[in-house]
Amino acid sequence: MQPIFILPEGTQRTSGKNAQKMNIEAAKLVADQVRSTLGPKGMDKMIVDSLGDITITNDGVTILEEMNIEHPAAKMIVEIAKTQESEVGDGTTTAVVLAGEFLKNAEALLEKNIHPTVIAKGYGMSAMKAIEILNKIAEDVSLKNKDILKNIAVTAMTGKGAEAQKEILADKVVQAVLDIAEEYEGRVTLDLENIKLEKKSGGSVEETELIKGIVLDKDRVHSGMPKRIENAKIALIDTAIEIKDTETDAKISITDPSQMQAFLDQEERMIKNMVDKIIKSGANVILCQKGIDDLAQHFLSKNGIYACRRVTKSDMDKLALATGAQVTMNLDDLTPEVLGHAQIVEELKVGDENMTFVRGCKNPKAVTMLIHGGTDHIVDEIKRALTDAIGDLRAALANGKVVAGGGSTEMEVAKGLRKYADTLEGKEQLAVLAFAEAMEVIPRTLAESAGLDPIDKIAELKAAHDKGNTWAGMDVFSGKIKDMWREKVMEPLKIKTQAIKAASEVAMMILRIDDVIAGGSGSDARRGPAMPDMGGMPPM
Ligand code: ADP
Ligand code: MG
Repeated sequence: MQPIFILPEGTQRTSGKNAQKMNIEAAKLVADQVRSTLGPKGMDKMIVDSLGDITITNDGVTILEEMNIEHPAAKMIVEIAKTQESEVGDGTTTAVVLAGEFLKNAEALLEKNIHPTVIAKGYGMSAMKAIEILNKIAEDVSLKNKDILKNIAVTAMTGKGAEAQKEILADKVVQAVLDIAEEYEGRVTLDLENIKLEKKSGGSVEETELIKGIVLDKDRVHSGMPKRIENAKIALIDTAIEIKDTETDAKISITDPSQMQAFLDQEERMIKNMVDKIIKSGANVILCQKGIDDLAQHFLSKNGIYACRRVTKSDMDKLALATGAQVTMNLDDLTPEVLGHAQIVEELKVGDENMTFVRGCKNPKAVTMLIHGGTDHIVDEIKRALTDAIGDLRAALANGKVVAGGGSTEMEVAKGLRKYADTLEGKEQLAVLAFAEAMEVIPRTLAESAGLDPIDKIAELKAAHDKGNTWAGMDVFSGKIKDMWREKVMEPLKIKTQAIKAASEVAMMILRIDDVIAGGSGSDARRGPAMPDMGGMPPM
């Protein structure tokens, strides 16, 4: 009998145990890539892209994004890092490392011929139980607990590029968060749009400032303009204040000099007309997303108006929120009602460059952190650390719950899950135990990063938790088991719940796959198989 082909030529297909093994292997590889960066003693990675640009970081999601991973199962793991980043803003390495460990432990069960759906079911039950345990042990936090908030910010920045200045930066981050926080019926919300992180290389990290208002990396367009405007009426303009070039190549033939003059006069009149509309609105500050013609700059400066051009879209949005202005696309719509307000708009020298400061905004909730640092790499890494800290504070305040770090929480969850497993029967019990053991990968990795014997330390930790010391964790600096709450290592509960949810979900999803069909659709098949070999990670 002839073989029957139901798939187009060139399709790659792997099924059954092979497919599972391959996917698990790829997922574990991703986890291995970031594992060594976990915790304050984690190492950094240097990633060089195809253009030779260098990123040095310790941040899980940044590493995975820059690595350009291609294997489909590996990509699913990268996705959870991204979700973790957008949902919480921190805990990306934790989520990825957990996912890898869930799959590794599942692999052992698969080898014992336990069916993947049984493992997936046990994992689902474990994740639910884990979240229940976490909610039980978490402590409360609110805007009043400035100390706890500071501890959360310091923990987020420990071991990052910001390590040396974390105390100073933490005070500023907490202040920024308190400035923008809104409390309504006991619920705290933070609109992160209200915090602008502006980078400025030059100077040292300690000089990083918290400024009430918005700072733009722009100087005024014309030196004849005033440097400082009080009681600023601000127009946000999203159209060019210049004469548009014609779309098509047009030629104007001029036969005598007076025509030339008439042409120039006409242009001048059009520009003047535009500036007149601005003056009529009463605006004394123009922040324009597009260009401003030289002549227009001249007219504006003669009228004592302060103007910046090519302001970025995201700055325009922040300015609109801060000053209450509406962004205008057409100068005819520029009326006093659409203008925003600020007490002062001024140009100040920062380092050796000029920046525009918009202060005393109508909305007092707008703040800017002006990040200083020796080089671009430092400033970038500080910005990532501050973003983590802000994200953690938001996550902590959003549900008002905080736990201790250093692996203490994970150990407590593992302990609770083992107790839970005792109440179960059959193969699901094994899956719950595998899940519990996987949780220990966090303290284990922290111990390894500090150069300690992980087996000893996990045994010590277990003993401490059995004695009822809920927050016993791995202090990576002294190498001792300590009460992490007393050590002020604190993290929002949401990091942990989100990481466990995302990691267990992706593990369950990968476990259920028993067939990988790659290059199925016509165009892809021609480009060759989309499915690399086992462990097919691109070289770094
Ligand atoms: P992630 O991307 O998951 O946030 P990090 O590199 O930020 O990874 O490491 C977070 C882990 O480091 C958490 O488990 C946290 O509890 C732990 N950690 C933070 N500070 C300390 C500390 N001072 N001692 C021990 N562990 C710490
Ligand atoms: Mg972190």
